[in-house]
Amino acid sequence: RSSGEKFEFQAEVSRLMDILINSLYSNKDIFLRELISNASDALDKIRFLSLTDKEVLGEGDNAKLEIQIKLDKEKRILSIRDRGIGMTKEDLIKNLGTIAKSGTSAFVEKMQTSGDLNLIGQFGVGFYSVYLVADYVEVISKHNDDKQYVWESKADGAFAISEDTWNEPIGRGTEIRLHLRDEAGEYLEENKLKELVKKYSEFINFPIYIWATKEVDVEVPADDESSDEEETSDSSSSEDEDKEAEEGEDEDAEQKPKTKTVKETTYEWELLNDVKAIWLRNPKEVTDEEYTKFYQSLAKDFGDEKPLAWSHFTAEGDVEFKAILFVPPKAPHDLYESYYNNNKANLKLYVRRVFISEEFDELLPKYLSFLKGLVDSDTLPLNVSREMLQQHSSLKTIKKKLIRKALDMIRKIVDEDPDESNEKDKTDVEKSSDSDEKRGQYTKFWNEFGKSIKLGIIEDAANRNRLAKLLRFESTKSDGKLTSLDQYISRMKSGQKDILYITGTSKEQLEKSPFLERLVKKNYEVIFFTDPVDEYLMQYLMDYEDKKFQNVSKEGLKLGKDSKDKELKESFKELTKWWKGELASDNVADVKISNRLDNTPCVVVTSKFGWSANMERIMQSQTL
Ligand code: ADP
Ligand code: MG
Repeated sequence: RSSGEKFEFQAEVSRLMDILINSLYSNKDIFLRELISNASDALDKIRFLSLTDKEVLGEGDNAKLEIQIKLDKEKRILSIRDRGIGMTKEDLIKNLGTIAKSGTSAFVEKMQTSGDLNLIGQFGVGFYSVYLVADYVEVISKHNDDKQYVWESKADGAFAISEDTWNEPIGRGTEIRLHLRDEAGEYLEENKLKELVKKYSEFINFPIYIWATKEVDVEVPADDESSDEEETSDSSSSEDEDKEAEEGEDEDAEQKPKTKTVKETTYEWELLNDVKAIWLRNPKEVTDEEYTKFYQSLAKDFGDEKPLAWSHFTAEGDVEFKAILFVPPKAPHDLYESYYNNNKANLKLYVRRVFISEEFDELLPKYLSFLKGLVDSDTLPLNVSREMLQQHSSLKTIKKKLIRKALDMIRKIVDEDPDESNEKDKTDVEKSSDSDEKRGQYTKFWNEFGKSIKLGIIEDAANRNRLAKLLRFESTKSDGKLTSLDQYISRMKSGQKDILYITGTSKEQLEKSPFLERLVKKNYEVIFFTDPVDEYLMQYLMDYEDKKFQNVSKEGLKLGKDSKDKELKESFKELTKWWKGELASDNVADVKISNRLDNTPCVVVTSKFGWSANMERIMQSQTL
């Protein structure tokens, strides 16, 4: 429409659209689930507002919180419509084109390397998937606070917005009209759409309808010659005839029937989903496949991998709630990128089946924000503002229980993973009965989310020991594999008091360290900590199972006493004294005789409370 106000897409959005338009990606189906997911979000929003203000829903059809799909085969239009919150003119401008979300460029980048469009929803740009199947899209929207507007674009770098003076008023909500491309004709087939809704949108909590054709049997007069004529005659006379036929049946059974049945096509709204809340069901009756599908729709993660673990439970007592938690198969692209200024929590909060929010960071501590899931509480009040809810006293209890359950769930990945148990302690029968599906799952978990466990040790003092049990690392004896603190302790030399570790940039670099020479020779095991976060971690993790941690590059390393120690100290007394004097006292704190070295004549160690050399390096790189 030439009259509309024109806007240019933000550059990254424009690039994204180009990629989508030209994509050879074969699974174009995903656009439908993205649109339905947006419709569902919009319905959640208006339902939430209606908790404190009933008026917002309006009356009649407007108050029906539902999603409708309609086809126009002649015009090749597929439309998806919701009675959700709708968008004001300003919303349309911002949300659909001018303000790029943080995920936009990340997604564009990902498309250029791996190209799996399936994850588009996770990046917050799902709407644009409409251009996989359409070359022209109209978005008609009506928000309670504004007039009805049409947004339209042919994905040519620009979009237009006009006040809608020609379509029928839609009441409230949004209707997306897709003008399908020639090669996307399959999306004009009712059955295809039904199949897609069933496949991808099973767990949408609002009814989804399709304007479906229905073959109905209609009785028409059977009098062949005159049938045309009679069909057009008024209905009362044909009714009379039916009656006559019925009445006359007994007396004249041989007389041929005067009506016949023909198929006629009509339309009606057909419901495609049954709106069930999976978390209300008995966990014993929910299949693994259902949990996986639920995870996918909740997390918008439609990759090929199943979640690594889940936990579905009911909490009872003074605070009652139901919850399902999932460990995703992969960490999201930005999990640690913006850890400290990212307040995104991934649990959805419901109160008595009504969706409240997914930005409720009071439910889980930051370090567990990689989990996905939902909480449905019966205890929290429904009709208060989000701010009031955030202050509610039962949140603390909910959070505590969620953390406990989450850690149990992660612990279970360890327990079920045959690679994690001590193979030596097992009989062959036990070994062969290990489920291969669970093998290596904990290593997988660790590679994706290990850093979160470390951050947990730093942040969550109450669960520090539980989290330390989940730590994995390489050591001088781990043989390229990951090992745990419990395994380390089981291998400690008799008489060894402390857990020994060293920090640095890589295992290869550390293996050459003079600090290790003698320790390795004497068969001590030393842990390699090579992640920058490890330095911080070790400031919080003081001990484990009554054993202290000792950085072998720091002062205080005590190996078994050597009878010659005292003798050596005496004979080199003059040398150490001279040396200390030569190096001005602000360069070194002390010069000592030590038994920690082998080939290397001397090393600089850090004092007990000082920063290790590695920490100095990290701090320097941060201030630069
Ligand atoms: P996301 O859903 O992850 O936010 P999308 O690209 O799917 O990303 O949608 C972008 C934005 O457009 C949404 O956040 C929402 O504000 C708006 N939007 C899209 N579809 C609808 C709709 N049916 N009703 C209301 N707002 C919508
Ligand atoms: Mg979306």
